Amino acid sequence: MEKTLSVNAGSSSLKWQLYEMPEEKVIAKGIFERIGLPDSVATAKIDGQAHVRKQKIVDHLQAVLLLMDTLIHFNLVDDFREITGVGHRVVAGGEFFKKSALVTPEVLKQIKSISHLAPLHNPANAAGIEAFLKLLPDAVSVAVFDTAFHTTMPEKAFRYPIPNQYYEKYAVRKYGAHGTSHMYVSQEAAKILGKPVEELKLITAHIGNGASISAIDGGKSVDTSMGFTPLGGVMMGTRSGEMDASVIPYLIANDPELNDAQDVIDMFNNRSGIKGVSEVTSDMRDLQDARLSGNKNAILAYEMFVDRLKKYISQYFGVLNGADALIFTAGIGENDEDVRRDVVQGLSWFGMEIIPELNVRGAVGDISTPESTVKVLVVPTDEELVIARDVEKFKKELKK
Ligand code: AMP
Repeated sequence: MEKTLSVNAGSSSLKWQLYEMPEEKVIAKGIFERIGLPDSVATAKIDGQAHVRKQKIVDHLQAVLLLMDTLIHFNLVDDFREITGVGHRVVAGGEFFKKSALVTPEVLKQIKSISHLAPLHNPANAAGIEAFLKLLPDAVSVAVFDTAFHTTMPEKAFRYPIPNQYYEKYAVRKYGAHGTSHMYVSQEAAKILGKPVEELKLITAHIGNGASISAIDGGKSVDTSMGFTPLGGVMMGTRSGEMDASVIPYLIANDPELNDAQDVIDMFNNRSGIKGVSEVTSDMRDLQDARLSGNKNAILAYEMFVDRLKKYISQYFGVLNGADALIFTAGIGENDEDVRRDVVQGLSWFGMEIIPELNVRGAVGDISTPESTVKVLVVPTDEELVIARDVEKFKKELKK
């Protein structure tokens, strides 16, 4: 029986999901957290049961070794050769990668060479790929890029209005992210709406710890809120989203703790967003608790968060000249009924209305009234499945 692993390696984490393919059956999944720190944790979910193991995990290679141990221990594989494919999420593909790629030494080199486009993500993604190449050298290894779906953006959308030389010499442009998710939920939304995706104008809101909004016309991404790196666009858990760049030299000149541009960018990436404004948390569940108990900073952070979402969604009504549906997905989009309610109520002028009884936690599908001229859908994302499917395509190609 052939098995495929879907892998999402972060700087201190590695998420995995094991599939039986082509049946698309999830056999097990898990996550290694706090890799490189003394209190690392490995969690595996097998047959609905969580197995938690605490032990020091020094790097991604050790995490993958432990994963192999776990798969054997729970009889999920008898022999590693059963794992015939490994698909890796890679955040930035730059202008090189318009679709998924078979990992070769050259591809790995290119992924590393564009780390400036996703400094928090690409080096970790590459470490994940290398660890699996060492332990499963015979498996088909595929890189699936978050930016690939957005390579259909027209130049007027992806270019920044700065002198052309900075695009021509340094490829400074908008690349976007979360492409696999925007693609998947737009295709699922088309099924729910009962129309081919080619005939639909959709606005997809991937709202998790990282968040991005996309305008999708006829199944193709025509604009998206993230920019040169995943720092752009809406406010996020720890990221500021869009900022006026003039703040950077001003803060370096005035704040003794911020010495250079990198310090300011690190602050925008790691200490801003919901965390920076609420001063309580970067996590929406905790923010909601703090807001509902009357914490003023938490109330402001929530209001700013919803405000930025509304602004980007309304921009895309303009980009698309109207839309058939707004789709909510990812941790907050799928689970937080307050965010959905407040975003949709604030955009009711566009003809959107939801049924309060349908807008509940765990809601899936169409939650809008029959009169709503723009449908509002909740669609759980499944980036892991998209990755596993891409690996499957390469396996078939190679067998030909
Ligand atoms: P993600 O990055 O897609 O995993 O999403 C993480 C975000 O989703 C965090 O801000 C979580 O607080 C939020 N989230 C997850 N579950 C819930 C929930 N039940 N209600 C509100 N927010 C949630």
